[in-house]
Amino acid sequence: MPVIYPELPPSPNIRPTIALIDLARLTQNLRTIKSLVGDTMVMVIVKANAYGHGAVECSKALETAGADWFGVAMVEEGIELRHSGISKPILCLGGIWPGDENRVLKYGITPVILTKETAENLNRTAAEQQRIVDIHIKLDTGMGRVGVPVSGLPAFIESIRHLKNLRIDGVMTHFAAANDPVEDAFTAHQIRLFNEGVAVLNANGIFPTFQDMANSPAFVRHPDSHGNMIRPGGSLYGFGDILPAGEMPSGIRPVMSLHTKIAFVKTILAGNSIGYGRTFVTKRDSVIATIPVGYNDGFPRCLSNKGSVLINDLAAPIVGRVSMDWTIVDVTEIPDVNVGDDVILMGENDGGSVYAEDIAELCGTISYEITCGISLRIPRIYIKYS
Ligand SMILES: *Cc1c(COP(=O)(O)O)cnc(C)c1O
Repeated sequence: MPVIYPELPPSPNIRPTIALIDLARLTQNLRTIKSLVGDTMVMVIVKANAYGHGAVECSKALETAGADWFGVAMVEEGIELRHSGISKPILCLGGIWPGDENRVLKYGITPVILTKETAENLNRTAAEQQRIVDIHIKLDTGMGRVGVPVSGLPAFIESIRHLKNLRIDGVMTHFAAANDPVEDAFTAHQIRLFNEGVAVLNANGIFPTFQDMANSPAFVRHPDSHGNMIRPGGSLYGFGDILPAGEMPSGIRPVMSLHTKIAFVKTILAGNSIGYGRTFVTKRDSVIATIPVGYNDGFPRCLSNKGSVLINDLAAPIVGRVSMDWTIVDVTEIPDVNVGDDVILMGENDGGSVYAEDIAELCGTISYEITCGISLRIPRIYIKYS
């Protein structure tokens, strides 16, 4: 399907380098996800500024489209959502820090509890305010990062049982390799351990309302990980590398595209070097265009002499080093290139596509790091078209 981006909408910057965030695709991705999991609740993960897409605007669109919960990494991120009017429950996945207790209560943010100490601190503040606060318990079933190991759960329950101002209303875990078919037995083991953990809670008279495990690859590949809520992040934003090739549900499409315009065009005769370090030397008389984007924008320096951008429906290879504010591309093969022509740095047009996962592959990383890394110097422009 041809994709036509609109005339670049107004931006707070005059420099024409922007990220377009397609909210219609975002909400369509949510609808696709919901259609795959039936009545299971969906906690949309909007930590890290919605993986670089802009937490406030994305969350507003997702709330309207039926998100049940929001997941953030830090209390500050939850407060930002409350200030923007988000009223659905917010889970702080990253636990809380000493000093967070009052604002967790004030803003109605539900913390994941990782340690007895944070539970005690929160209970003290809740008791002072004569309130009962809901918490979710994180079980470590094999990620090995944070959380209560299932083997230590009985002792953990004993150690927090006397904290009368806390109510355990959720239990969750996180998968280490749900995307990887080679690790399916390990994922199955994590699911079994989680269910054991739930049974331990139940045997102690604790019946959490919310039982959730699944990140994006898990809800697609491991239906028995759905519990009664899933926690998709990358799939909401349309990343193509959350799953093995061919397993992406149809209807999931990328939300962010990156755009700029050509700032400078020149002819360079054969045998001349281009950019820092003189890493590229023209083999022929070349038409070279310079575009206003660089690694300070989060356009990765590892694309030097590797990636390409789309200009007038054709791919223009990046030549020389990506620098802090500029990138240089070879447009010799592209007819009639002029200053001011549109450039797609990430996105698609009739001539092809460059997705976050393509950039990531060239840089030895994942799509997540690419969109998270698009710096705040690049304005996010929100559009409701699709
Ligand atoms: C980030 C995160 C998710 C979302 O994972 P995706 O792979 O982006 O879907 C889910 N749960 C927890 C605890 C997370 O930290």
